[in-house]
Amino acid sequence: MNKRTVIITGASRGIGRATAMRFAQEGYNVLINYLHSEQEAMRLLEMLKKSNCNAHAFKADVSKHGQVDDMVSFCVEVFGALDVIVNNAGVAQTRLFTDITQDDWRTVTDINLGGVFNCCQCAAKHMIKNKKGRIINISSVWGMVGASCEVHYSAAKAGVIGLTKALAKELAPSGIRVNCIAPGIIETDMLKDYTEAELGELKKEIPSGRLGTPFDVAECALYLADEKNDYITGQVISPNGGFVV
Ligand code: NAP
Repeated sequence: MNKRTVIITGASRGIGRATAMRFAQEGYNVLINYLHSEQEAMRLLEMLKKSNCNAHAFKADVSKHGQVDDMVSFCVEVFGALDVIVNNAGVAQTRLFTDITQDDWRTVTDINLGGVFNCCQCAAKHMIKNKKGRIINISSVWGMVGASCEVHYSAAKAGVIGLTKALAKELAPSGIRVNCIAPGIIETDMLKDYTEAELGELKKEIPSGRLGTPFDVAECALYLADEKNDYITGQVISPNGGFVV
């Protein structure tokens, strides 16, 4: 049985939740990170424990370096290791460029890009000592091609891709692989501001004919976490049904 340990940020809902479920099924020890959705995180924790997964939950705001540091220390203390981190926590916001306030810019970049920086740095300190580890950062197709009315989100997600590539080069000699997943349109709470009609229109633009599911993304994360896939680093894999190729 696989007894590697994974931290998944933003695991209370959506893609993070599905990723936690899949890693648990594969025998990983799982640390569920959440911020506001405590009930959802506790429900997931109970579910994973019932399926015999060694799991814990930890509340931390990924945009706060100290809280992330405490989360990584907690992980190493309770599980004795940190092998994989999936930096998934994120927020989206739709605004005309001219309406984006300084606060909007800071919030969206602090969480989506600053959060990835904090998690990579705190995890890397631990992984470098062990000369192995897997870092998986969640970007977005909008970080690849840009989205109108999501300039701050697109910029942050493009930053995640740049960070991944640079860090992959720096950490490869230490045995650490750093990769990025840039999902297309995935059915989660993040789509709640879209109308049914808008989702229908988007679906028409996806050659595979459907929106993505959180499990489509989780499978990519499992692949990148697998020790067998040791020669893949600094890459961006985009589960998007052919929407962006
Ligand atoms: P979601 O359902 O809205 O879930 C977002 C998760 O992020 C929640 O678990 C939330 O935790 C957590 N989170 C937000 N801010 C946080 C913070 N400061 N600290 C810790 N956790 C925080 O969204 P999703 O669709 O699953 O998105 C997951 C990731 O995929 C994001 O990075 C998103 O940008 C990316 N993505 C999504 C799509 C899509 O179409 N859905 C497409 C491309 C990329 P709490 O609720 O506990 O606060």
